[in-house]
Amino acid sequence: MKLLDLPSPNHAPRPAGTAVDVLVLHYTELPLQESLDILRDDARELRVSSHYVLAEDGTAYRLVPEDRTAWHAGRSWWRGREALNATSIGVEIVNLHGDRHDYPAVQVAALIDLCRAILARHPAIEPRNVVGHSDIAPQRKIDPGVRFPWKTLADAGIGLWPHPDAPPIGGDVQEALQRIGYAPPRDVAPAEIVKAFQRHYRPRRVDGIADDETWSLVAGLLDRIELDRIGMGTR
Ligand SMILES: [Zn+2]
Repeated sequence: MKLLDLPSPNHAPRPAGTAVDVLVLHYTELPLQESLDILRDDARELRVSSHYVLAEDGTAYRLVPEDRTAWHAGRSWWRGREALNATSIGVEIVNLHGDRHDYPAVQVAALIDLCRAILARHPAIEPRNVVGHSDIAPQRKIDPGVRFPWKTLADAGIGLWPHPDAPPIGGDVQEALQRIGYAPPRDVAPAEIVKAFQRHYRPRRVDGIADDETWSLVAGLLDRIELDRIGMGTR
């Protein structure tokens, strides 16, 4: 993976005493140059940035040092914590067409290298804390989208994938999703939270309905989280 430094002025100190423990993956929906321009512009009303931008050819640009806060997550929630910029690393992945075309293999390979390096530097990032923007801001965001290769990343030790064929558990799906880390449905319809989960783990049908297959995936992911917690996870 080729790594180039291209500093952005858009960053702030990390709050004292906080560990970086979340990795947030995004897509840009914009070409590389336009993405870099926006993420390095300090004259916009809403200044934004990310630690890294990953081009389609696999080149990674480092905009913000990992020990500084970058501004990529916005209003967000994961595992009971809000405003995740202060404790996360953000990677913007160039993808022009959102949900309509696959990520190039060379870009996915570079992303795996980049994520592995980030995780090695930040052991507090548990597998369950490798998330998409959509997971932490389901009311506003759908990136990195239904074409994002979450399973490939999980197979490479980055993030979690549900244990297969878990028997569907019934009950309150929102409560189960909150145990995974998703926000309670306060300012958003409950179905939007289910959709965020489906976008990540069952992208071929994102309908917000907690059917048996969705429940089985929820149960399988809770199994993985538990195995990981007791030190029997795959990573
Ligand atoms: Zn995003």
